[in-house]
Amino acid sequence: MSRAAIFLDRDGVLNDPVPDGDGPPESPYHPEDVHLSTGAVEGARALRAAGFALVVVTNQPAAAKGTATVAALMAVNSRVREVLADAAVELDGWYTCLHHPAGTVPELSGPCDCRKPAAGMLLQAARELDLDLAASWIVGDSDSDVGAGERAGVRTALVEHPGSAHRRSDLVAPDVRAADLAEAAAAIVAAA
Ligand SMILES: [Mg+2]
Ligand SMILES: [Zn+2]
Repeated sequence: MSRAAIFLDRDGVLNDPVPDGDGPPESPYHPEDVHLSTGAVEGARALRAAGFALVVVTNQPAAAKGTATVAALMAVNSRVREVLADAAVELDGWYTCLHHPAGTVPELSGPCDCRKPAAGMLLQAARELDLDLAASWIVGDSDSDVGAGERAGVRTALVEHPGSAHRRSDLVAPDVRAADLAEAAAAIVAAA
């Protein structure tokens, strides 16, 4: 029987964006820069306790842009998974889009089906993990997360992390708005 899932964006939901000079905060590019966000562990535990599969879906275009190596991005993914495991949060799946439509590294650049707001990672996970999309949600901190959820036919929760305000507009209409994953989880469990 297919399972309901929570698709979790990584940066701004599970871990904090990292200050980046005068520009907006960026994804961590070094494992030592990984710090879990407020409410991440509490929220993930509550969602798993409610029976949802937890599946990370993350856009990581820095290697396509030539500003980080694929190995560095994978090391950060591993660190996030490790610190969550240390807090007794197990994940059911993890999907990473390494592409960027206007990247500089040819093999990672150009259009793809997986970069959110496309639904490719969610649809692939649904096939591979036998997930019930109609009973599932995405939790993200950007318009593109909400868009990917809408395209995949899941409900949407927008986490309003202060470090990623530049990735949100009033143009999206998520089903839930929350300050962090714990608050989103409470709303999702109440709605289920
Ligand atoms: Mg994010
Ligand atoms: Zn992609």
